[in-house]
Amino acid sequence: MSSCKKIELLAPAGDLKRCRTAVDYGADAVYLGGHNYSLRSRAGNFSIDEIAEACAYARAHQAVIHVTVNVIPHEEDFEGLKEYLKTLQDIGVHAVIEASPAIMALTRAEAPKLEIHCSTQMSVTNAYAAKFLSDSLGIDRVVLARECTMAEVKEIAAGSPVDTEAFIHGGMCVNLSGRCTLSNRMTLRDANRGGCAQSCRWMYRLYQNENEISDPQHLFTMGSKDLCAADTIAGLISAGVSSLKIEGRMKTEYYVASIVSAYRHLIDEIYDAHGPLSDERMAYHRMEIMKGENREVCSGFYQGIAGSESIIHHPNSDADVNHGFLATVKEMNETAHTAVIETRNPFNLNDEIEVLSPGRENLVFKLQMIQNEQSEYIETSRVPMRRLCINAPVSLRPGDILRKGNSR
Ligand code: SF4
Repeated sequence: MSSCKKIELLAPAGDLKRCRTAVDYGADAVYLGGHNYSLRSRAGNFSIDEIAEACAYARAHQAVIHVTVNVIPHEEDFEGLKEYLKTLQDIGVHAVIEASPAIMALTRAEAPKLEIHCSTQMSVTNAYAAKFLSDSLGIDRVVLARECTMAEVKEIAAGSPVDTEAFIHGGMCVNLSGRCTLSNRMTLRDANRGGCAQSCRWMYRLYQNENEISDPQHLFTMGSKDLCAADTIAGLISAGVSSLKIEGRMKTEYYVASIVSAYRHLIDEIYDAHGPLSDERMAYHRMEIMKGENREVCSGFYQGIAGSESIIHHPNSDADVNHGFLATVKEMNETAHTAVIETRNPFNLNDEIEVLSPGRENLVFKLQMIQNEQSEYIETSRVPMRRLCINAPVSLRPGDILRKGNSR
């Protein structure tokens, strides 16, 4: 396991702040979308200047940037595309993630220094497809379909002439990664042009002719639980997969920091141990991951075809994941052992605070002092985006995230 190049941890980012956060918390690569040619049209997305800034930041931290150019293109989508690809190459983008053979061919011809990663939208589920795409279009990597089992991943990684990338965390699409017109039909928002409204997560009444066949107490939904492949990471590393991908370009800064940090520690510990971890250590890492996630999770297809246990059977499937996120650190006064923080969610005096800090194990301390902007002592904080001063018996750094120590 340790004799090979270390596996890449690939994180999502919806803006520059989240991109820096992903890199700071241990991502080897970050994927993001430009204003055009990318799915996830509501993900924020980057201007060319912002992509260039992301590349510079990543480069300074030994990381790389991948850009999604994964729209399923109509005729008009090719306008300006050649120039866009050349610009991405010139500003230092490492790879483009693409779902159209025509765009892949254009990239190879016009921007040959860019790596081409075949998007999961192309549903590659076998090594023959990887070889075909490599031979015919010169791609450098396939992002495997989320619907591959672990046994299939092993076979594909062994037989593929190009690198393989596998999803390890985040949303699942129940219709084979966008091979779906549900969103188009229900909202006129095209899932394959960046507009998916996640209509599969809605609750439906089912009728057969005039008769309702759904139970009004348990309406029908197709929404999938999120993927959490923590238990599969050691297997994916052994299989020779090159990159582990976290889904979620629309997720918050807190989500990115928590999930990237948790998987960074898990992957590093597996390498240090030269193999799978004990049940006790895996329980710890699963708990760390779930501090950033408040959707239900499942193991996707890795243990076999996902069944009804992978479907969410209630309407509260899309809640905000920020409930444990209390504040970010702005300044530390080492002499006075105090810190200035910017608040997010409510907290109280005597709360146990956990510090999420890039590259460090989590620190914990008890909150014993809170001062407001007028230097008055207060017992509780309820208002977001306030600057407060707190006691800091452990060393804090600007950018550290404070969260509730027992949020789960
Ligand atoms: S509506 Fe659901 S199944 Fe359809 S593309 Fe969107 S996420 Fe996938």
